[in-house]
Amino acid sequence: MKIQFFSAKPYDKTFFASHNEAYGFELDFLETHLGPHIVNAVDDGTFAVCAFVNDKLTAEVIAALAAKGVKVIALRCAGFNNVDLDAAKQYGIRVCRVPAYSPEAVAEHAMAMLLTLNRKTHKAYNRVREQNFSLNGLLGFNLHGKTVGVIGTGKIGKAFCRIALGFGCKVVAYDLFEDEELKLLGVGYTSFENVLRQADILSLHCPLTPDNKYLIGKETLAIMKPGISIINTSRGGLIHTGDVIEALKTGHIAYLGIDVYEQEEKLFFKDLSGSIIEDDTIQRLMSFPNVLVTGHQAFFTQEALSQIAEITLHSVQQLSDGIEPDAAVMLV
Ligand code: NAD
Repeated sequence: MKIQFFSAKPYDKTFFASHNEAYGFELDFLETHLGPHIVNAVDDGTFAVCAFVNDKLTAEVIAALAAKGVKVIALRCAGFNNVDLDAAKQYGIRVCRVPAYSPEAVAEHAMAMLLTLNRKTHKAYNRVREQNFSLNGLLGFNLHGKTVGVIGTGKIGKAFCRIALGFGCKVVAYDLFEDEELKLLGVGYTSFENVLRQADILSLHCPLTPDNKYLIGKETLAIMKPGISIINTSRGGLIHTGDVIEALKTGHIAYLGIDVYEQEEKLFFKDLSGSIIEDDTIQRLMSFPNVLVTGHQAFFTQEALSQIAEITLHSVQQLSDGIEPDAAVMLV
């Protein structure tokens, strides 16, 4: 039984091949993104297609997969904004995902971004290697006592809240559903606007949906305190990049850390060193000394990759055996 992988990287092969020893699927790894241009590369009779965040599973692609007899789309990620779920339902293709794989991996990266920006460890690293031990320009601020606003307190947001509480921050949060355990730990739930109003630091941990595109834009930025720090490890489309650039220029945003970017599919997960980057927006963003961009690496820990491989293969095995996987895993 064959699983064809798209956007496959060497580390995907390593972790999936290792976990597949217990399953025995035929694994075929393709480096290219999945999209209308390449869907013909899927072999007839392939049981499952395994896709990642920047693969485009549009209605057109899904129709082509169905024609080739594909039964399962297995997303080796949590987010699924890149899949037309209605089309999958229409063509009778089951869609599974990995709802949780070490939420701590992403939460810890969000905090690492904040600490890098604030304490300028990236600058200190380079400076000391040049035998420059001056502290000028490295001034930071204490996180202890600051108000951290968290949008979305699901698995990752919850892990982030715990970390922020551990640093001695006051944590205020907005989610459609309040987490009782977090409330007991001292997290204060309030409205979205109140979180924006109170936060010294804002971290986004909600999914991207049609309702919350550009959640952070001109209007919402105006509510925030001048000097706000914003961290986005969730999805690029939550932020209106043009508006954020304007707020960086005026100093309204003091620090911005993004692990995700709206136009990331042309850039992220690729080694483009030596190439001309045509995307002027990301170039502008990267030109700010107070902006840190990482290439969708928040999930990238050994623990997370191991869980992604195991959960994905287990779900595909269950579907091939006619066993219904956990509801949290199944999208369609
Ligand atoms: P989750 O489903 O456990 O939690 C999401 C939370 O957001 C839920 O509690 C939900 O009620 C809440 N929510 C939904 N819409 C909201 C809104 N408009 N405003 C406020 N809250 C809202 O998901 P998770 O595992 O915590 O992941 C969160 C997001 O992180 C994913 O959707 C994905 O986009 C992103 N992610 C990024 C990486 C990375 O490597 N950068 C890795 C995994 C996930």
